[in-house]
Amino acid sequence: MAPTPEGTISFMNVSQGSTLEIDLAAPPTLALSAIALFADLDGTLAPIEETPSAVKPDARRRRLLDALTHALSGRLAVISGRALGDLDRVLEGRITAVAAVHGLVRRTADGRIIAAAADERIGEAAAAFRAFAKADSCLLVEDKCVAVALHYRKAPLAAEACRDLAKRLGATLGLIVQEGESVVELRALGPDKGAAVEAFMAEPPFAGFSPIFLGDDLTDEHGFRAASALGGFGVVVGARRPTAARYGLADVAAAQAWLQRGLEAAA
Ligand SMILES: [Mg+2]
Repeated sequence: MAPTPEGTISFMNVSQGSTLEIDLAAPPTLALSAIALFADLDGTLAPIEETPSAVKPDARRRRLLDALTHALSGRLAVISGRALGDLDRVLEGRITAVAAVHGLVRRTADGRIIAAAADERIGEAAAAFRAFAKADSCLLVEDKCVAVALHYRKAPLAAEACRDLAKRLGATLGLIVQEGESVVELRALGPDKGAAVEAFMAEPPFAGFSPIFLGDDLTDEHGFRAASALGGFGVVVGARRPTAARYGLADVAAAQAWLQRGLEAAA
Protein backbone atom coordinates (compact mmCIF):
# COMPACT_ATOMS: atom_id res chain seq x y z
CA MET A 1 0.00 0.00 0.00
CA ALA A 2 1.48 3.31 -1.04
CA PRO A 3 0.56 6.50 0.82
CA THR A 4 0.38 9.33 -1.73
CA PRO A 5 1.32 12.96 -1.23
CA GLU A 6 -2.37 13.86 -1.04
CA GLY A 7 -2.79 11.59 1.97
CA THR A 8 -4.79 8.97 0.12
CA ILE A 9 -4.20 5.25 0.46
CA SER A 10 -3.84 3.03 -2.58
CA PHE A 11 -5.91 -0.14 -2.50
CA MET A 12 -5.15 -2.84 -5.03
CA ASN A 13 -7.92 -4.27 -7.14
CA VAL A 14 -6.62 -7.57 -8.46
CA SER A 15 -9.89 -8.87 -9.86
CA GLN A 16 -9.91 -10.27 -13.39
CA GLY A 17 -6.16 -10.70 -13.29
CA SER A 18 -5.46 -7.00 -13.63
CA THR A 19 -3.92 -4.71 -11.10
CA LEU A 20 -5.82 -1.50 -10.58
CA GLU A 21 -5.03 1.09 -7.96
CA ILE A 22 -8.03 2.33 -6.01
CA ASP A 23 -7.29 5.49 -4.07
CA LEU A 24 -9.38 5.92 -0.97
CA ALA A 25 -9.14 9.21 0.86
CA ALA A 26 -8.75 9.36 4.62
CA PRO A 27 -12.16 9.82 6.28
CA PRO A 28 -13.31 13.23 7.49
CA THR A 29 -13.01 13.93 11.21
CA LEU A 30 -15.85 12.14 12.99
CA ALA A 31 -18.83 14.30 13.95
CA LEU A 32 -19.61 12.34 17.11
CA SER A 33 -22.91 14.11 17.84
CA ALA A 34 -24.41 12.81 14.58
CA ILE A 35 -23.13 9.28 14.29
CA ALA A 36 -23.31 5.73 15.59
CA LEU A 37 -19.96 3.92 15.47
CA PHE A 38 -19.48 0.25 14.61
CA ALA A 39 -15.94 -1.09 14.80
CA ASP A 40 -14.27 -4.43 14.22
CA LEU A 41 -11.64 -5.41 16.81
CA ASP A 42 -8.66 -7.34 15.38
CA GLY A 43 -6.73 -5.48 12.70
CA THR A 44 -8.88 -2.41 13.37
CA LEU A 45 -8.80 -1.42 17.05
CA ALA A 46 -6.18 -4.00 18.05
CA PRO A 47 -3.07 -5.13 16.17
CA ILE A 48 -3.19 -8.67 14.76
CA GLU A 49 -1.22 -11.10 16.92
CA GLU A 50 0.12 -14.60 16.30
CA THR A 51 -2.92 -16.20 17.93
CA PRO A 52 -6.33 -14.80 18.97
CA SER A 53 -5.52 -15.38 22.66
CA ALA A 54 -2.34 -13.29 22.36
CA VAL A 55 -4.52 -10.18 22.04
CA LYS A 56 -4.90 -8.86 25.59
CA PRO A 57 -6.72 -5.99 27.27
CA ASP A 58 -4.88 -2.75 26.57
CA ALA A 59 -5.01 0.39 28.72
CA ARG A 60 -4.71 2.82 25.80
CA ARG A 61 -7.47 1.10 23.83
CA ARG A 62 -9.64 0.97 26.97
CA ARG A 63 -9.28 4.73 27.50
CA LEU A 64 -10.09 5.41 23.84
CA LEU A 65 -13.20 3.18 23.83
CA ASP A 66 -14.39 4.49 27.21
CA ALA A 67 -14.10 8.08 25.95
CA LEU A 68 -15.90 7.21 22.70
CA THR A 69 -18.70 5.39 24.53
CA HIS A 70 -19.18 8.47 26.72
CA ALA A 71 -18.97 11.01 23.88
CA LEU A 72 -21.35 8.94 21.73
CA SER A 73 -23.84 8.43 24.61
CA GLY A 74 -23.45 4.67 24.14
CA ARG A 75 -23.71 4.60 20.34
CA LEU A 76 -20.62 2.38 19.98
CA ALA A 77 -20.78 -1.31 19.11
CA VAL A 78 -17.90 -3.70 18.49
CA ILE A 79 -18.60 -6.10 15.62
CA SER A 80 -16.15 -9.00 15.55
CA GLY A 81 -15.58 -12.56 14.46
CA ARG A 82 -14.56 -13.50 18.00
CA ALA A 83 -16.83 -15.40 20.37
CA LEU A 84 -18.76 -13.24 22.87
CA GLY A 85 -16.82 -14.34 25.96
CA ASP A 86 -13.54 -13.76 24.18
CA LEU A 87 -14.62 -10.24 23.17
CA ASP A 88 -15.52 -9.51 26.79
CA ARG A 89 -12.07 -10.78 27.82
CA VAL A 90 -10.21 -8.47 25.42
CA LEU A 91 -12.55 -5.49 26.03
CA GLU A 92 -12.71 -6.19 29.78
CA GLY A 93 -16.49 -6.38 29.59
CA ARG A 94 -16.73 -2.61 29.11
CA ILE A 95 -18.65 -2.65 25.81
CA THR A 96 -22.19 -3.98 26.15
CA ALA A 97 -23.33 -3.59 22.53
CA VAL A 98 -21.37 -6.20 20.62
CA ALA A 99 -21.89 -8.56 17.73
CA ALA A 100 -19.76 -11.68 18.01
CA VAL A 101 -18.98 -14.55 15.61
CA HIS A 102 -19.46 -12.24 12.60
CA GLY A 103 -23.02 -11.34 13.62
CA LEU A 104 -24.30 -14.81 14.59
CA VAL A 105 -24.37 -13.70 18.25
CA ARG A 106 -25.47 -10.20 19.23
CA ARG A 107 -25.75 -8.48 22.60
CA THR A 108 -27.95 -5.41 22.53
CA ALA A 109 -27.13 -2.11 24.25
CA ASP A 110 -29.45 -3.16 27.10
CA GLY A 111 -27.71 -6.50 27.49
CA ARG A 112 -30.04 -8.97 25.76
CA ILE A 113 -28.24 -11.77 23.92
CA ILE A 114 -29.63 -12.93 20.58
CA ALA A 115 -27.76 -15.97 19.28
CA ALA A 116 -28.07 -18.30 16.33
CA ALA A 117 -29.04 -21.82 17.40
CA ALA A 118 -26.17 -24.27 17.94
CA ASP A 119 -25.68 -26.36 14.82
CA GLU A 120 -24.46 -29.96 15.06
CA ARG A 121 -22.73 -29.60 11.69
CA ILE A 122 -20.34 -27.13 13.34
CA GLY A 123 -19.40 -29.87 15.81
CA GLU A 124 -18.67 -32.23 12.90
CA ALA A 125 -16.58 -29.57 11.18
CA ALA A 126 -14.71 -28.84 14.42
CA ALA A 127 -13.89 -32.54 14.82
CA ALA A 128 -12.56 -32.67 11.25
CA PHE A 129 -10.50 -29.51 11.80
CA ARG A 130 -9.07 -30.92 15.04
CA ALA A 131 -8.15 -34.22 13.34
CA PHE A 132 -6.38 -32.27 10.60
CA ALA A 133 -4.63 -29.93 13.06
CA LYS A 134 -3.24 -32.87 15.06
CA ALA A 135 -0.48 -33.24 12.45
CA ASP A 136 0.76 -29.67 12.91
CA SER A 137 0.99 -28.02 16.32
CA CYS A 138 1.15 -24.60 14.65
CA LEU A 139 -2.46 -24.95 13.48
CA LEU A 140 -5.15 -23.72 15.85
CA VAL A 141 -8.81 -24.74 15.93
CA GLU A 142 -11.21 -22.26 17.55
CA ASP A 143 -14.68 -23.68 18.21
CA LYS A 144 -17.23 -20.87 18.66
CA CYS A 145 -20.27 -23.23 18.73
CA VAL A 146 -22.07 -21.42 15.89
CA ALA A 147 -18.90 -21.33 13.77
CA VAL A 148 -15.49 -22.98 13.81
CA ALA A 149 -12.20 -21.44 12.72
CA LEU A 150 -8.94 -23.00 11.57
CA HIS A 151 -6.07 -20.53 12.12
CA TYR A 152 -2.87 -20.99 10.11
CA ARG A 153 -0.96 -17.79 10.86
CA LYS A 154 1.86 -19.81 12.45
CA ALA A 155 1.76 -22.41 9.66
CA PRO A 156 1.66 -20.39 6.43
CA LEU A 157 2.76 -23.37 4.31
CA ALA A 158 -0.44 -25.16 5.35
CA ALA A 159 -2.67 -22.32 4.13
CA GLU A 160 -3.78 -23.97 0.91
CA ALA A 161 -4.44 -27.31 2.58
CA CYS A 162 -6.50 -25.59 5.28
CA ARG A 163 -8.59 -23.71 2.75
CA ASP A 164 -9.09 -26.87 0.66
CA LEU A 165 -10.23 -28.80 3.72
CA ALA A 166 -12.67 -26.04 4.66
CA LYS A 167 -14.10 -25.95 1.14
CA ARG A 168 -14.57 -29.73 1.10
CA LEU A 169 -16.21 -29.73 4.53
CA GLY A 170 -18.36 -26.73 3.61
CA ALA A 171 -19.66 -28.52 0.52
CA THR A 172 -20.22 -31.80 2.35
CA LEU A 173 -21.91 -30.32 5.41
CA GLY A 174 -23.71 -27.43 3.71
CA LEU A 175 -21.85 -24.77 5.71
CA ILE A 176 -20.60 -21.37 4.57
CA VAL A 177 -16.85 -21.02 4.07
CA GLN A 178 -15.55 -17.68 5.30
CA GLU A 179 -11.96 -16.69 4.62
CA GLY A 180 -10.08 -14.23 6.79
CA GLU A 181 -6.56 -13.06 7.52
CA SER A 182 -4.63 -16.35 8.03
CA VAL A 183 -7.84 -18.12 9.04
CA VAL A 184 -10.62 -20.04 7.36
CA GLU A 185 -13.96 -20.52 9.04
CA LEU A 186 -17.10 -22.59 8.62
CA ARG A 187 -20.42 -21.15 9.73
CA ALA A 188 -24.12 -21.77 9.25
CA LEU A 189 -26.46 -19.41 7.47
CA GLY A 190 -27.50 -16.53 9.68
CA PRO A 191 -26.90 -12.85 10.38
CA ASP A 192 -23.64 -11.35 9.09
CA LYS A 193 -21.95 -8.14 10.25
CA GLY A 194 -24.25 -6.09 8.00
CA ALA A 195 -27.34 -7.64 9.57
CA ALA A 196 -25.89 -6.84 12.99
CA VAL A 197 -25.54 -3.16 12.01
CA GLU A 198 -29.13 -3.11 10.71
CA ALA A 199 -30.40 -4.66 13.94
CA PHE A 200 -28.52 -2.20 16.16
CA MET A 201 -29.68 0.72 14.00
CA ALA A 202 -33.30 -0.25 14.63
CA GLU A 203 -32.79 0.04 18.40
CA PRO A 204 -31.88 2.71 20.94
CA PRO A 205 -29.46 4.35 21.36
CA PHE A 206 -28.34 3.86 17.73
CA ALA A 207 -31.61 4.56 15.87
CA GLY A 208 -31.77 7.91 14.11
CA PHE A 209 -28.00 8.41 13.84
CA SER A 210 -25.69 7.97 10.88
CA PRO A 211 -23.79 4.64 11.00
CA ILE A 212 -20.03 4.56 10.45
CA PHE A 213 -18.42 1.12 10.11
CA LEU A 214 -14.68 0.76 10.70
CA GLY A 215 -13.08 -2.58 9.84
CA ASP A 216 -10.42 -4.51 7.98
CA ASP A 217 -11.89 -7.97 7.28
CA LEU A 218 -13.63 -9.38 4.23
CA THR A 219 -16.63 -9.92 6.52
CA ASP A 220 -16.57 -6.18 7.31
CA GLU A 221 -17.65 -5.53 3.71
CA HIS A 222 -21.19 -6.50 4.83
CA GLY A 223 -20.91 -3.81 7.50
CA PHE A 224 -19.65 -1.21 5.03
CA ARG A 225 -22.61 -1.89 2.72
CA ALA A 226 -25.13 -1.75 5.57
CA ALA A 227 -23.67 1.53 6.87
CA SER A 228 -23.87 3.08 3.37
CA ALA A 229 -27.43 1.88 2.84
CA LEU A 230 -28.43 3.51 6.14
CA GLY A 231 -26.96 6.89 5.23
CA GLY A 232 -23.45 6.51 6.65
CA PHE A 233 -20.23 5.06 5.30
CA GLY A 234 -17.50 2.47 5.75
CA VAL A 235 -13.83 3.02 6.54
CA VAL A 236 -11.50 0.17 5.59
CA VAL A 237 -8.32 -0.32 7.58
CA GLY A 238 -5.20 -1.55 5.82
CA ALA A 239 -6.74 -4.02 3.39
CA ARG A 240 -5.79 -4.26 -0.29
CA ARG A 241 -8.89 -5.33 -2.13
CA PRO A 242 -11.96 -4.00 -3.88
CA THR A 243 -14.10 -2.58 -1.09
CA ALA A 244 -17.51 -1.11 -0.38
CA ALA A 245 -15.89 1.30 2.09
CA ARG A 246 -15.85 4.96 1.09
CA TYR A 247 -12.64 5.85 2.95
CA GLY A 248 -9.40 4.14 3.95
CA LEU A 249 -6.90 4.25 6.79
CA ALA A 250 -3.46 2.63 6.63
CA ASP A 251 -3.38 0.60 9.83
CA VAL A 252 -4.54 0.21 13.44
CA ALA A 253 -2.48 3.21 14.59
CA ALA A 254 -4.09 5.41 11.93
CA ALA A 255 -7.55 4.15 12.95
CA GLN A 256 -6.89 4.93 16.62
CA ALA A 257 -5.51 8.38 15.71
CA TRP A 258 -8.60 9.14 13.61
CA LEU A 259 -10.93 8.16 16.48
CA GLN A 260 -8.85 10.27 18.87
CA ARG A 261 -9.14 13.29 16.54
CA GLY A 262 -12.92 12.83 16.53
CA LEU A 263 -12.90 12.94 20.33
CA GLU A 264 -10.75 16.06 20.41
CA ALA A 265 -12.99 17.80 17.86
CA ALA A 266 -16.03 17.03 20.05
CA ALA A 267 -14.40 18.24 23.28
MG1 LIG B 1 -10.54 -7.57 11.76
